[in-house]
Amino acid sequence: MYIDKIRLHQYRNYDQLDVELDPQLNIFVGNNAQGKTNLLESIYIAGFGNSFRTSKDKELVRMGQKQGQVRIEAQKQYGPVTIDFRVNEKGDKEIKVNGGTLQRRMDLLGTVNVVVFSPEDLRLIKEGPAERRKFIDRELSHISPKYKGALIEYVKILRQRNELLKQIPYKKEMRSMLPIWDDQLLKAGTDLVILRQKFIERLAVISGRIHSGITAEKETFTLTYQPNINVQFPADYDTIYMAFETRLRARTEQDIQRGFTASGPHRDDLGLFVNGVDIRSYGSQGQQRTAALSLRLSEIEIIHEEIGEYPVLLLDDVMSELDSNRQNDLIQSIKNVQTIITITDLDTIEPNYINRAKVFRIHEGRVIHSDGQEVTRDGSNSERI
Ligand code: ATP
Ligand code: MG
Repeated sequence: MYIDKIRLHQYRNYDQLDVELDPQLNIFVGNNAQGKTNLLESIYIAGFGNSFRTSKDKELVRMGQKQGQVRIEAQKQYGPVTIDFRVNEKGDKEIKVNGGTLQRRMDLLGTVNVVVFSPEDLRLIKEGPAERRKFIDRELSHISPKYKGALIEYVKILRQRNELLKQIPYKKEMRSMLPIWDDQLLKAGTDLVILRQKFIERLAVISGRIHSGITAEKETFTLTYQPNINVQFPADYDTIYMAFETRLRARTEQDIQRGFTASGPHRDDLGLFVNGVDIRSYGSQGQQRTAALSLRLSEIEIIHEEIGEYPVLLLDDVMSELDSNRQNDLIQSIKNVQTIITITDLDTIEPNYINRAKVFRIHEGRVIHSDGQEVTRDGSNSERI
């Protein structure tokens, strides 16, 4: 799929924007604080119904205005689709697909598939396990309703078990209820580990291949599942269940003392190695960035495998941080994917790449196509997009 048009009205630092994209490659060039990330954020919003940089939707409304709007027109395998997003100064939002209002944000997911890679993604490598679990949870929830269900269930049971653990020291009789929660936690937790095991194995193959492409086979990237429970993969349901049970039981007294559950998939992690070295601690900036990029690009492959259509790729301010070899190899690996790149300095991009692209300049929320045509206009009088 690809995005044809982006229209913004009183959104972030844009008054009115009407931009037509190239189905393949688009580059938006501009200094800091001109509206590059804002523009990519609007595409993300069309994909997810919320922003990747704020949870406060009202921040999306242009300062001093009552309502902000985003409209994205895309071409999908089965035909065109239009997404309208409106948010008011109170943060109330409305999402429409082809003119029909959606009841829940969740119903939007999958309409326009978007993958973003931004400097923030380094967190995936450098920060603690929670970031990596979030990545896995998100990716897997996208493609597996079963996983999503098990995750919601697990989180709910974990919270209830933790509540109970906090009460036991004061009300000893409540201890008899613990096995009920343990039983449910073990079942939901085992479901999670089973599905994570399969998914991480798949992700390891794809990301290894992509990484090898970006580094011209000079580096070998290995992704591993590092579960909190003591189990060797591949493992079947019973083996995982028993390993989880053993650990949970062994730590029951400690859990009661501390008032929370210390064992289970909510403590899982991913191992990330380049040529056998743990890059979470020892990777160079470039290695960490390339690993993060490989994981993001794997998302593209997985979406393609799942739905038979490529998502749109947004690269926010990351090209200049890759050397020209890595840039070239990256470009080769995203041939069939509509890509929208932001950059502060066009000179940092390979010239042969620029020739193939539609290039725009962004300055203070105004966008000019490289042919000189301005694609922003004064929209202060117009009510709607
Ligand atoms: P950088 O290269 O530093 O990442 P950028 O071009 O990506 O810059 P953006 O993050 O898109 O910049 O932000 C551009 C400007 O938008 C900032 O000056 C910010 O103050 C402004 N801005 C953000 N939200 C709003 C809003 N709701 N109303 C008006 N202006 C806003
Ligand atoms: Mg930015």
